[in-house]
Amino acid sequence: MGNESALSAGSRTSRLSRLEAEPFDCLVIGGGITGAGIAREASRCGLTVALLEAQDFASGTSSRSSKLIHGGLRYLAQGEIALVRKVALERKAVRRLAPHLAEPAWMLVPSRSRASHLRFRTAIAAYEKLGAVDRPDRHVNWGPAELAENEPALDPDRYRYACVYREYTTDDARLVLANLRSAVAHGALVESRLRVDSLIVQGGRAEGAEATCVETGERIRVRAKVIVNAAGPWVSPVRELEDSDASGLLHLSKGIHVVIPTERLPVRNLVILPAGDDRSIFVVPRAEVVYVGTTDTSYGKGPEWWPEITRSDVEYLLQPLAQSLRIEPIAPEECVAAWSGLRPLVGQAGRTPSEISRRDEIWQGAAGVISIAGGKLTGYRDMARGIVKRLADRLDRRLNQAPDDAPLPGGDFDGDLGTLAVSLAQDHAIAESAANRLVRLYGTETAAVLNRGSDPLVPGAPVIAGEVDWAVSEEGALYLEDFIYRRSRVALYEPAWCDALLVPAARRMQRCLDWDDARTEREVELVRKRRLADLAFVGGREAV
Ligand code: FAD
Repeated sequence: MGNESALSAGSRTSRLSRLEAEPFDCLVIGGGITGAGIAREASRCGLTVALLEAQDFASGTSSRSSKLIHGGLRYLAQGEIALVRKVALERKAVRRLAPHLAEPAWMLVPSRSRASHLRFRTAIAAYEKLGAVDRPDRHVNWGPAELAENEPALDPDRYRYACVYREYTTDDARLVLANLRSAVAHGALVESRLRVDSLIVQGGRAEGAEATCVETGERIRVRAKVIVNAAGPWVSPVRELEDSDASGLLHLSKGIHVVIPTERLPVRNLVILPAGDDRSIFVVPRAEVVYVGTTDTSYGKGPEWWPEITRSDVEYLLQPLAQSLRIEPIAPEECVAAWSGLRPLVGQAGRTPSEISRRDEIWQGAAGVISIAGGKLTGYRDMARGIVKRLADRLDRRLNQAPDDAPLPGGDFDGDLGTLAVSLAQDHAIAESAANRLVRLYGTETAAVLNRGSDPLVPGAPVIAGEVDWAVSEEGALYLEDFIYRRSRVALYEPAWCDALLVPAARRMQRCLDWDDARTEREVELVRKRRLADLAFVGGREAV
């Protein structure tokens, strides 16, 4: 086990040579949660694995989710019992493997009448049974007094009851990174910024792929016995490399989230509120901000890394807040960050996006490429097991069946984040608030991150210098955007610090990655533009 630096930019050249030289059992296309889970499971079971990601790891849907490890209570109402059971059970497994990336939180479902409260209670009790929820984690019921005490922001004239049950908050992009690093520790070769743009087909069978390095334009050829297409919203374009008629299986649905300062949206729990139609939205407190999501609208433009966020998307999320909470209406101008992503749903004719099943599906193409799409972040391990079973059949191999119980990087502790933060704060003489933030990103690896540099990047900022070095040397960050958006998550959770941090973070990356001044300035400019584009809906400007 374990070259911990196997994602570092410094060893990219040697990894590219190995990718060309070594034949692999399996080549995975796509470094989101689906690809990362498959790479980890396949290498854990003894297969040789290469994974190619076109952009940054987790730069697609897997950094744009609601960041919940959840079973999807609403799918019960759609009769998706098997799906809910599978995903609800998976919550426990993710918590066991990466407790820093599956933090328990109470999810509050408010009701206006006793009858609707009873309906929710029944559904939640069924959900807990399906997910084998332990007694201390089972739901509780709140009446007006408990609501006033525990969730005072909720409008007491509107809601008199609530059912409160356990879900888990995660960090989607960091869950992807943890799985990729675990795959690497089991021998997988994993590389970003390599876009697969053609397949090597011999005798009608795909035996490899060609990819272009988006940094240098260099082309490489990777040979593998089986190819897995885990390209999320891009599954169809990748299938078309094998068969030009293979499009049309996916229905892309856009989901956006907006981020609001806590003082404007002072909720204490995860809260489910009715949206203006028959859907619901999540309100999720995280550090100094609260995020609200999500929309679910058909997206006909084809897959994109940065789907536009329109003012009407934002208004859809903001309008219900003032109806259910004791707050003044929130204007789009008050949003401090926003993100959008595309759900790669398996198309079902005649259904709206929110009616389409979240089940995953596997197809085998004309040249033998195995494609997988649909599913949930939460169910990634189950999807990976399904693919690895197919790989074993195709390769006619008996696989190593060792139980999946070794923690993911940073996950080797008993799950008590508070105690971990306190001990790190004492050992490293940092503020407890800083330690609290760090343990939710790095778990037990926080000490190693602090050892790379414990000073804030700018005085008073929550982000420390060591995070930049760690992102570059251990987590494959190659651009400033990778660090700001998907490693430190500053762009999402500490947007007020973002502008002040860009130049110091870029300078630190310059040192790590040997950039010249022009490159460093360009990186800062790119992230500034990106942030402006995220918030283009503010003030009535159109999205770009
Ligand atoms: P992606 O993460 O998009 O990964 C595919 C990767 O393939 C991308 O990184 C892309 O760059 C790469 N790629 C594309 N083309 C190529 C190529 N030619 N060569 C190489 N690489 C390529 N699930 C939950 O469990 N909980 C939630 O709270 C939740 N909330 C959600 C909220 C929203 C708004 C959305 C949109 C989804 C949500 N989901 C949630 C679902 C979950 O996020 C997705 O199911 C999951 O992230 C999909 O991961 P993926 O790896 O299949 O796709």
